[in-house]
Amino acid sequence: MQWFGKKYEGGLWHDCAKAETPVGAICGQCGEEIAEGDDGVLLPLFGAPIAQAFHYACHMRALIGGLNHLRGTCTCCGGEDPPDPPEMTRRQAAEAAVAEWEARN
Ligand SMILES: [Zn+2]
Ligand SMILES: [Zn+2]
Repeated sequence: MQWFGKKYEGGLWHDCAKAETPVGAICGQCGEEIAEGDDGVLLPLFGAPIAQAFHYACHMRALIGGLNHLRGTCTCCGGEDPPDPPEMTRRQAAEAAVAEWEARN
């Protein structure tokens, strides 16, 4: 894995090399373009010629689950909500989930 933008604390980032921000690359989670100034990671995917870019929040969202999952109200937790609030874009939902997750750690 490589990272770009801001280096976050934590074991995930510890041994990884910094990469140039892949401006214009499509985030593998939210489908939006990576912009200058964004933070994120590059993950090599099996069989892919180039590493897949993810926004920082989108990558974290894949690890921690969606906002409603964090709140225990999604279907996999016995509730009735989808993991991400449907009124948010995937990127907004990812950023909201990470903010909630960081607030409780
Ligand atoms: Zn994204
Ligand atoms: Zn859940």
